[in-house]
Amino acid sequence: MKYIISKRLKIIIVGLVLIIIASIFVYYQFLAPSADIQQYKEYYAPKTTQKTLIQDEVKVTFLGTSSLLFDDGNTQLMIDGFISRPPLLKMLPLSTVKTDADAVNNVFHKIGIDHNKLRGLFIAHTHYDHALDLAYIAKQIGTHVYGSESAINIGLGEGINVDQMSVYEVNKTMQLGDFTVTVLQSKHSPTFDEGEKINEPLKQPAIALNYHEDSSYDFLITHHNKKFFVKPSANYIEGALDDIRADVLFLGIGVLGAQDENFQNMYYEQTVRKIQPKLIIPIHWDNFTKPLTDALEAMPKFADNTKAGLDFIIQRTKVDKIDFQILQGFQSIYF
Ligand SMILES: [Zn+2]
Repeated sequence: MKYIISKRLKIIIVGLVLIIIASIFVYYQFLAPSADIQQYKEYYAPKTTQKTLIQDEVKVTFLGTSSLLFDDGNTQLMIDGFISRPPLLKMLPLSTVKTDADAVNNVFHKIGIDHNKLRGLFIAHTHYDHALDLAYIAKQIGTHVYGSESAINIGLGEGINVDQMSVYEVNKTMQLGDFTVTVLQSKHSPTFDEGEKINEPLKQPAIALNYHEDSSYDFLITHHNKKFFVKPSANYIEGALDDIRADVLFLGIGVLGAQDENFQNMYYEQTVRKIQPKLIIPIHWDNFTKPLTDALEAMPKFADNTKAGLDFIIQRTKVDKIDFQILQGFQSIYF
């Protein structure tokens, strides 16, 4: 009897050890961050304390992925509506995602989103990591939503009135307070559902993969003599940015490090070399299955190679003498 128990015990112990070894293997091979962002501290943008904006000053706050808040004290604009950042398990096919109202409310309170000032929410494309919270934001803040037809269907699914949303008019410059916004046709980083649309109103909770890409966009934002360019997705349409210049480039690097050298070089030539910015701020490098904090982690290894992407951009910008600064979650930079 004693012998049988100890044999079973041995089997259990061996089983547990194997499970632990397998878990460690899965973690380091797939789930661990694909870059230690702390190793890039020398590139962190200097910490600024919250201050009242002076005349003509623009504050940009990074909210993870490619969610950004532009604010000049009178007018606010938001790029992308994604704050909820549901955990990885919610992305699995049998699971669903939905807006985390508390998370959005807390973040908006923290960064000072103002019902009277937020004049526009611009959706880069309709994957859930850009568009999940657009309807909730439209409902809570009353802001106008701009996006593709698929973005409109995300709003309609949650009962947003069609009058509160507009389909993009590409290349047409809009005036919003002292800001102008020009939406440009762009291209998504290599993806499985490029061009697929959300054909009918999408109600939450929804399967994450039902947030199809549709079409991707870039944003040229000006404020008096300042020019900002936001490129949420790491891909290019050859020649599309030939005539575009900006001082500051918010550069999407999601899955850039997972592409081959030729793609990376073409991306650089067709974005950075065309826009000729003085400063580049990388976006879409963080693990968006973890909550928005001021200590964001890089994308996990199964999804990207953030280290390769960062190293590539840093090396190229050094040669071109372009300033490169990393913003952490909630961090603001003033222009
Ligand atoms: Zn996407």
